[in-house]
Amino acid sequence: MKINVISLFPDIIESSLKGLVGKALDNKVAILELLDLKKFSQNEYGSVDDSPYGGGEGMVMSVEPLEACLKTIKKPGKVIYLTPQGQIFNQKKAIELSNLKHVTFVCGRYEGIDQRFIDNYIDEELSIGDYILSGGEIAASVVIDALLRNKDGVLGNKASATNDSLSQGRLKGHAFTRPKDYKGNKIPEILSSGDHKKIEEWKIGNSLWVTREKRPDLFKQLQLSEKEMILLRQYEDSILKKHD
Ligand code: SAM
Repeated sequence: MKINVISLFPDIIESSLKGLVGKALDNKVAILELLDLKKFSQNEYGSVDDSPYGGGEGMVMSVEPLEACLKTIKKPGKVIYLTPQGQIFNQKKAIELSNLKHVTFVCGRYEGIDQRFIDNYIDEELSIGDYILSGGEIAASVVIDALLRNKDGVLGNKASATNDSLSQGRLKGHAFTRPKDYKGNKIPEILSSGDHKKIEEWKIGNSLWVTREKRPDLFKQLQLSEKEMILLRQYEDSILKKHD
């Protein structure tokens, strides 16, 4: 997979994509090309933005440098503009994007980019949430991190991505590690029983219960099988028993 990013501050993206995802890039699971928009100014002043027509605060990123920069990319694939005006990014979209061969992200700054660039070159607009960031770089990093986790060879254990919260429309649920007894707070007994089938069933029940408690909006959209309803009920019974 080839990921291109057009940005005025490519360093921000480079420094935020370290760790697991950085290793994936080193191992060539994906190739990341960061294009510095400052190098594509089309005027003698070296600027890439200008004041808005019709007045108003701030500056707008000009269409020509963006176009010149995009044209240097041999295969841009899907061109995505990170903007608070886009559709909200989610795990489903992360999985969808991870299957692309080529993708290009455009990061805005200031008051955003000239609408004519959007109209002519942008295939999709994505937002990472209903708030305003100073630039698209952090948003692009979020999207790239989330999509790369779904590619083979990024996580040690492929199941980690498919079991992650939201991959199956529900939250993953509770996790525990040593010690077994922390100041009287014991882990659920079943988890140290060695009975893999029962443990798996407990995890499903717990995941459904946690989703219903924390994200009733997600829970409502789930179409539970008969088996899942039984596991949820069993989980509820187990916590009621604990509080008896
Ligand atoms: N004036 C613009 C508006 O109201 O729609 C916001 C411009 S914002 C200060 C500058 C840039 O940050 C945007 O062009 C976009 O690339 C990025 N940005 C800001 N918030 C974002 C969000 N929630 N998701 C994705 N990108 C965002």
